[in-house]
Amino acid sequence: MAKQEDIFKNVVSHAKEYGFIFPSSEVYDGLSAVYDYAQNGVELKKNIREYWWKAMVQMNENIVGLDAAILMHPTTWKASGHVDAFNDPLIDNKDSKRRYRADVLIEDYAEKLNQKAQKEIDKAKARFGEAFNEQEFVTTNARVMEYKSKQRAILERMARSLENEDLADVKLLIEELEIACPESGSKNWTEVRQFNLMFGTKLGASADSAMDLYLRPETAQGIFVNFLNVQKSGRMKVPFGIAQTGKAFRNEIVARQFIFRMREFEQMEMQFFVRPGEEIKWYEHWKETRLKWHLSLGLGENKYRFHDHEKLAHYANAAADIEFDFPFGFKELEGIHSRTDFDLKAHEQYSGRKLQYFDPELNENYVPYVVETSVGLDRMFLAVFATSLQDEVLEDGSSRTVLKLPAVLAPTKAAILPLVKKDGLPEIAHKIIADLKWDFNVSYDEKDAVGRRYRRQDALGTPFCITVDHQTMEDQTVTIRHRDTMKQDRVNITELKNIIESEVAMKNWLMKM
Ligand code: ATP
Repeated sequence: MAKQEDIFKNVVSHAKEYGFIFPSSEVYDGLSAVYDYAQNGVELKKNIREYWWKAMVQMNENIVGLDAAILMHPTTWKASGHVDAFNDPLIDNKDSKRRYRADVLIEDYAEKLNQKAQKEIDKAKARFGEAFNEQEFVTTNARVMEYKSKQRAILERMARSLENEDLADVKLLIEELEIACPESGSKNWTEVRQFNLMFGTKLGASADSAMDLYLRPETAQGIFVNFLNVQKSGRMKVPFGIAQTGKAFRNEIVARQFIFRMREFEQMEMQFFVRPGEEIKWYEHWKETRLKWHLSLGLGENKYRFHDHEKLAHYANAAADIEFDFPFGFKELEGIHSRTDFDLKAHEQYSGRKLQYFDPELNENYVPYVVETSVGLDRMFLAVFATSLQDEVLEDGSSRTVLKLPAVLAPTKAAILPLVKKDGLPEIAHKIIADLKWDFNVSYDEKDAVGRRYRRQDALGTPFCITVDHQTMEDQTVTIRHRDTMKQDRVNITELKNIIESEVAMKNWLMKM
């Protein structure tokens, strides 16, 4: 089995074993691509959400929050284009009966060509060492050029066919490339069909008067339809932003990869309203600012890359993804889109109401342009969790599993451990907890030998273990052990709060932005 797959399996099982993520309704064998956040997962998720919220809302005078309802008037989704165009092209393999996204099958094929090109580049790099000029190699080496141009041609043809709704050509492309079902190996495919990703539901009791609704597939539209309410009641001046976190629902066709692609997930979105003509400046600003936010968590610069969209959605005039190096490769973590005035104009048109802003400096009314930043909370969780989960070989040859979460996000900040369950040590430990819990999430553990308790806290990502021993009775000191270095210091109980605070305070982390 590939190493990547091993790592990913390990992530999934660790998340379950240590109370981070469970399959939904597991007693009934689960529900595909739906997950529950367990006692530690809910804390980590909440901390990520708060880290985002503080960076967005608290630290920006011109950004305010919103919590719009999940259910919205159904015309919202006509106006936004979701009813007509929020589709994925699907294809079934007749032998395995497995369903795939046709575009993903083709993209995976194209990515393999890319990987082949990369292999050639890596080989040459190893051969030529310092003298290697990658730029020159990529533009002159016949093999690399062939792989790259083939990859481009495939992706371009697919994009063209999808845009023209030419699904027959999408199927033809799959046949021409001789793409086989990864499960059965067969090339026996059905036609390609469009499939709308919105979940439908009904409002109202009686069948004839019921209204067809959708569970929102994105949180953004709740912000757009409230744009003028917020602007007027908050006396906001363009440029300003509205931030929101909340659930979104998509009936994803291929929902594998754990919490990367879920049917019910949470988004953290901010729509920034700007003067027409100034959107590209703000788009660049938010691209840079969002990357800084990610980098402030310290998971490593090499884990992120931008993917600038060459082909833009009909409503956008610039778009990029921040991609993250997940255990299954670089994939979208966040989208930053310059959405023009498409959404507000569409809601004006469908509602018959004006959604305009009077700009006192220009002395004119206009529909603002919008720059959106949209990050999946669950994908953030996966990025942080998978990167932090590490197996370490220690100096004495033994090994440990440690979840090196950024301390600011760790579910529990400190575990208080009495060395033994007697001699008054548990009482002191409980007193320390009673004091620290006003400021931090802390836990108590007295079961097993202290070494095993340390290992358990390492696996949970707890940055500090505080051990109460017999010396504590005499001089009010305890040992504090640091998760990452495993270093232990003897400190006075009164110092604990400051020591923990300096490593976990959001302020100290956000200041790195
Ligand atoms: P993808 O191409 O991966 O399907 P998308 O381009 O459709 O994603 P957006 O509509 O831009 O995604 O949504 C914004 C963010 O919401 C994404 O960057 C991602 O982090 C998150 N997201 C989207 N779909 C899902 C999902 N099914 N499960 C978890 N997170 C998701």
